Amino acid sequence: MTFLFHDTVPVATGTVSVAFTDRRLDLGDNADPAVRGAALAEIAAETGATPYLMHQVHGTAVHVPDGADGAFPDADALVTGAAGLALLARAADCVPVLLVADSGEVGAVHAGREGVRRGVVPAALRRLDELGATGLRAWVGPHICGACYEVPEEMRAEVAAEVPATAATTSWGTPALDLGAGVRAQLEAAGVAVAEVGGCTREDEALHSHRRDGAAAGRLAGVVWRTP
Ligand SMILES: [Zn+2]
Repeated sequence: MTFLFHDTVPVATGTVSVAFTDRRLDLGDNADPAVRGAALAEIAAETGATPYLMHQVHGTAVHVPDGADGAFPDADALVTGAAGLALLARAADCVPVLLVADSGEVGAVHAGREGVRRGVVPAALRRLDELGATGLRAWVGPHICGACYEVPEEMRAEVAAEVPATAATTSWGTPALDLGAGVRAQLEAAGVAVAEVGGCTREDEALHSHRRDGAAAGRLAGVVWRTP
């Protein structure tokens, strides 16, 4: 069983699958190359598609791969109309978001604190719109919840000034950010239907969490691919 969650969606040009991995796989840049290689091989076998990774930099750049060119672009969102590519957004507390258009385009977005504040999800939606995508839906993957993601007061204010829905309080009463609520607000503002996969990475030991495990944390992934 490769995936924690897996669903399929009929689209105009075939079938799109959306999936999320858990701690059984480590897709992190710091993972042992053999471990990450095995994880990618498992995803390739399960999807029948070529895994496509980005070098995530907490920005708003959207990359459009048009083939399995082996690139590892600096970007936090991937969108494509091509079949046969399994787009990965990797995270350990940040929000992995998968996008599916009824017209067949797909996207994978890594939305952390900076990505939410700077609007990487709206940027991906704009790029999909430019590609002619219609009828967008989103799957929001496991991430750290608003009751766990403690931040300094000034940081909460800075992010909430851009995305008010992110303002939150931890279960122990200190300033926090709810990145999932922020992403949901951004998607809903654009008229995109949202499905929540659920799960707090910090609380659920089956998920990778940077807040819980520190620099040694692995990475889970949201994976989206189209089959003609
Ligand atoms: Zn939590």
